[in-house]
Amino acid sequence: MECAPRVNVEVASARAKKMVQDIEEKASQTQVFHGEIESKQTLCPQCGKPSGQGKFCNNCGAPLGMIKCERCGTKSPAGTRFCGECGNRLS
Ligand SMILES: [Zn+2]
Ligand SMILES: [Zn+2]
Repeated sequence: MECAPRVNVEVASARAKKMVQDIEEKASQTQVFHGEIESKQTLCPQCGKPSGQGKFCNNCGAPLGMIKCERCGTKSPAGTRFCGECGNRLS
């Protein structure tokens, strides 16, 4: 008589574990498609490695994002010292 309830509990917990695994698998797959591709495209101009979402590279600390030339309006990666289009100094 002692065996029956234990078996039931084991089966139930095994099912629950499998459900959790399936849900986690699906969740991680959707996350890969939404978040990871964008962050992979954000590569650091200094070190060429994924720089993360912040204003500075997670890997080497270089400033990230685009800065606009005040003279001609051309956008250059942050950290660029001179405009590649007109030579204006970008600080
Ligand atoms: Zn970097
Ligand atoms: Zn310029």
